[in-house]
Amino acid sequence: MTKQCSIVLRVRGRVQGVGFRPVVFRLAHESGLRGWVCNTSGGADILLAGGGEAIDRFRHALPGRLPAAAHIESIEERAAPADIPSGFEIRLSDAPDGARVAGILPDLATCPDCLREIVDPHDRRYRYPFANCTHCGPRFSILNALPYDRATTTMRGFRMCAACEAEYQNPHHRRFHAQPNACAVCGPHVTWTDAVGTVLAEREAALQALAEALRQGHCVAMKGLGGFHLLVDARDAVAVQRLRERKQRDQKPFAVLFPTPEAIAETCEVSDAEQAWLASQAAPIVLLRKRAGGRGLADTVAPGLPWIGAMLPYTPLHHLLMRDLGFPVVATSGNLTDEPICIDNDEALARLGTIADFFLLHDRPIARPMDDSVLAVCAGEPIIMRRGRGLAPGSIPLAGVPDGWLAAGAQMKSSVAVTAGGHVVMSPHIGDLDHDGAVRLWRRSVDDLMGVHGLTVERVVTDQHPNYASTRTAMALCPPSADDHTHLETVQHHHAHIAACMAENGLEGTVLGVAWDGTGLGTDGTIWGGEFLVGTRAEFRRAAWLRPFPLAGADAAAREPRRAALGVLREMGSAYPPPGFSSAQLALLDSMLHSGLNVVQTSSVGRLFDAVASLLGVCQILSHEGQAAMRLEALAGGGGADPYPFGWIGPALDWAPMMAALLAGDESPERAAARFHATLIEMIVAVAQHEQCPDVCLSGGCFQNRLLLVGALRRLTDEGFRVWRHRDVPPNDAGIGLGQVAVAAARRLSKRPDAEKSAGGCG
Ligand code: ZN
Ligand code: ZN
Ligand code: FE
Repeated sequence: MTKQCSIVLRVRGRVQGVGFRPVVFRLAHESGLRGWVCNTSGGADILLAGGGEAIDRFRHALPGRLPAAAHIESIEERAAPADIPSGFEIRLSDAPDGARVAGILPDLATCPDCLREIVDPHDRRYRYPFANCTHCGPRFSILNALPYDRATTTMRGFRMCAACEAEYQNPHHRRFHAQPNACAVCGPHVTWTDAVGTVLAEREAALQALAEALRQGHCVAMKGLGGFHLLVDARDAVAVQRLRERKQRDQKPFAVLFPTPEAIAETCEVSDAEQAWLASQAAPIVLLRKRAGGRGLADTVAPGLPWIGAMLPYTPLHHLLMRDLGFPVVATSGNLTDEPICIDNDEALARLGTIADFFLLHDRPIARPMDDSVLAVCAGEPIIMRRGRGLAPGSIPLAGVPDGWLAAGAQMKSSVAVTAGGHVVMSPHIGDLDHDGAVRLWRRSVDDLMGVHGLTVERVVTDQHPNYASTRTAMALCPPSADDHTHLETVQHHHAHIAACMAENGLEGTVLGVAWDGTGLGTDGTIWGGEFLVGTRAEFRRAAWLRPFPLAGADAAAREPRRAALGVLREMGSAYPPPGFSSAQLALLDSMLHSGLNVVQTSSVGRLFDAVASLLGVCQILSHEGQAAMRLEALAGGGGADPYPFGWIGPALDWAPMMAALLAGDESPERAAARFHATLIEMIVAVAQHEQCPDVCLSGGCFQNRLLLVGALRRLTDEGFRVWRHRDVPPNDAGIGLGQVAVAAARRLSKRPDAEKSAGGCG
């Protein structure tokens, strides 16, 4: 007889809401083991009792049996309790205590098995818009607290029918302990209303009405997974234009929901990596290049751009709709421009009633707003531009960081980060904090992430900019302490960008950080954005930067590329006439520049993009943030042009020789845009060669530009540098929170008496 033993395995990682416990249950049965498995605040505990060899076999087999969405970070052994059940069972979750740190799962797009059921007339879930199982369905969008159980989700109000309950209790069924399990008898259902909420149809009739309204060119507000979408026929130029006017969205591109991968391929070029992202369970919006002569979409969907933000259906509701329609629809966030996305039925009717003709509502509450995620694939890897539904919350391990730290993030593309269980957990995209609604959402996101993890704010880290709404709001959340500022610290904006890139890539030591973006407050009070920082996570020195130039009218300057052009020309002392102004406007701005009143100095690469876009006649006033840079990137095509000359003024990279050549030349705007990109890339190489740091980090919003990123990666690699970029974390200001925590954690470590000092040089 083999030796009998018992042991508890404490599993950490992404093991809740992914069908982990059923897998353990089945494997334990097969191995003839007794015991139990239960979710805990930190992951899952497994008690195993039986033969020592059987336990070994179980442990050996478990990794190979994990469901696709599960991920084990660590397994720790604990002593087993005395009472051991006579069989193997799934126990109810642990009582909530301590920091709840189990990896929270993002929402998962519909799996093939569920899809098969909803299109099978003989299945009891035929055309049911909320089918899901342990492999797919809503997760973070319905989660109110950890551990993940039906009672802690927005499904708690729905009582399972006998058939659903039987699936839920059957360890051999793929809906065994599927927390959002539901069917047409017992689960949520859809309702079709007019613009003031009068119910016109329900259930199947509502689905039919939805498709018919879109066929007829109407605009529909549809409640989805992370909030409401506004939908119109993407082929119908008039309908798309009407949506733009009602939504007050001038030119910003709309995302498009396609019925099938084949439909996307008819309209766009799709690489294997892009296809994999489109079909992934994250199901993000992927930026794709329009096919030359590609057909099907109205020009007003993405005016003046060669890219389309494309996505595929990711819930049964979206699948059913797109199968009924068979043509692409615009699917844009249900909000007025720049406000957060609506999640509540009444709120949507109130806020979107002037935009949408009809509403498709449902009665499963959404726990928190989440926009669709947006990414582009560059050099085979993603550039995440917006982290939302399907990717949020994201977390990055950061060894030794205490629980309850709050990183406030930045002002634009804001996102908060909190620390829990040795991880930095990043909130979904919140938006630009220029709007009260976004500031309220920022505040709610803090409570939400802290609350889900059962934490309170212990320490606050903010940007150095005192007037960011995130900075001001976060300071008020700082816990009181004896000497006031103990629990509050600030991090310079571009240092945070680079530290985020270091933390994501697990880099310690000294790097050259290339932090290029639109704006961030520098330590000298000027506006930075073309920075080369040499340093560690804890500290840095400003090694080089772009030659600063003046911007007249600080806030307006960020919206008017022509003002950046004027500043560049005046800084150079050029007689070239600044484009886009009346003579009266020009006189006023010149007097501002002369007096220095309401004028800032900036080294921003983002503003240099603006200046070039203006001088090439591409864009004088922005309709949305980043528009000038996107248009220039589009204009430059595949790149590969020779760089313009540039110089140095001390540690400042001088763009004046480039501008002079650009203005004197009679090249096409396409070629000039390509040469401008090439020059920026050579500037990075020049600084890298001067500093001789083997590791170079690229961060900041400018590295959403694929031409710039791919060129810098290639040239720096050719020159023998190790180049680090973002993959999981946005390079734009949504990644700032991670960097703020990384800097604060590193400072804390370096203040220890035994810490090594390592700032300054490379090598
Ligand atoms: Zn499924
Ligand atoms: Zn049911
Ligand atoms: Fe930034």
